[in-house]
Amino acid sequence: MEHLGDLESKLAGKNVLVRLDVNVPIDADASEDVLSESIKAHPRIQNIVPTLEAILEHTHKVMIAAHLGRPCGKVVEGLSLRPVGAVLAELLDREVVLLDHYLDEPPALFLKTLSQRQILLLENLRFFPGEKTADRAFASHLCSGMDVYINDAFGVCHRVHASTVTIPQWLGKENSFAGAALVEEVRVLDGLLRAPASPLCVLMGGAKVSDKMGALLSVIDKARWVLLGGAMAYPFLQAQGYMKLPESTSAKELKDVELARMVLAHAKERHVELVLPQDHVVAREFSATATPCITQDSCIPEGMMGMDIGPQSCDLYASYISRAKTVLWNGPVGVCEWPSFAAGSLAMAQAIAQNSGITVVGGGDSLALVLKHGLASQITHLSCGGGAMLDYLEHRDLPALKELSPFRSFYGEL
Ligand code: AMP
Repeated sequence: MEHLGDLESKLAGKNVLVRLDVNVPIDADASEDVLSESIKAHPRIQNIVPTLEAILEHTHKVMIAAHLGRPCGKVVEGLSLRPVGAVLAELLDREVVLLDHYLDEPPALFLKTLSQRQILLLENLRFFPGEKTADRAFASHLCSGMDVYINDAFGVCHRVHASTVTIPQWLGKENSFAGAALVEEVRVLDGLLRAPASPLCVLMGGAKVSDKMGALLSVIDKARWVLLGGAMAYPFLQAQGYMKLPESTSAKELKDVELARMVLAHAKERHVELVLPQDHVVAREFSATATPCITQDSCIPEGMMGMDIGPQSCDLYASYISRAKTVLWNGPVGVCEWPSFAAGSLAMAQAIAQNSGITVVGGGDSLALVLKHGLASQITHLSCGGGAMLDYLEHRDLPALKELSPFRSFYGEL
């Protein structure tokens, strides 16, 4: 937090552009009150309030830039930032003015028209194709007339976008800073990679197998136990012969099995125990209403598909988690959106919540599960970045972080 002190002295009277991560689930069917409460409770929103309050102590000329969902460069009414703006207004006790047309004139011009109690929120950046293509003209238009850029959006720091990389390049490192939530994310993840309280237990699940292999290889070096679940476990089971490779196996899936062999060899070399499910909840079809069956062992019978880890595996994994001093979890161990296949992921969330050591949970689905079951206060750190967390664990750096000067010095001091 020390670095925020530095930052504040640079803000007095300045025009400040803040990139925030407010990408929270928006339930279009929920009533206004219910929607507002769910937005307010989300860690992505909770985490950015201190940064905004600190900035507002020094300047009221604040312009927030953020995105919601995947509108793919087009205006999508359901992905407007309006509900988020209403929540921020309440939390900050300011009027948040949503600017939905800002391509004709630089948005900084609108800052001049605001009173001391008003701040500006740019409508969803991803309504414009220039955001995702990191377009220089789009970026320079957004930051024209702005003095300072603050990035407090860890969840998008792995993206080379206009608002994460091109804008700080325009404004220069000397004017581009990290917000408090971003610094905290990096501090926690960096601590895990440097010197985690030992033993470290890593639990990885989810479906994006190849996205996670790099992070897995990187954290194996620090872990005592690596527990795998969800679709993440299947290439490993296939590599060990517990699961037959169907004839329809794609080239990508074959590559995952190859990667799994490499990770298994690396874990063995490092004397890290890599634990695979001992039993599974399987079904004949991938459907919420499919009949769940529990296998007797690690093998997945032909014609069935794995949907969750089984009860024996839940107990086994929970026993590893209970002995760890540090736990890192990314990705559900089953299809947690469907009640018949959610028991394993819930058991993992509960086991992690009961661990009194350092517990770090990241990834959209794992985070949602922890929030849904009221376990958030029992977790040391809820990471608000899924892909960003994995990329940071793999590379120890992210493209957007390279553009932030105080962050660099803070990072150097870690
Ligand atoms: P990820 O974004 O990689 O963390 O993946 C999360 C997704 O993985 C969730 O939507 C889960 O439904 C899905 N998932 C978890 N286990 C399985 C499984 N055994 N088969 C298919 N999808 C799964």
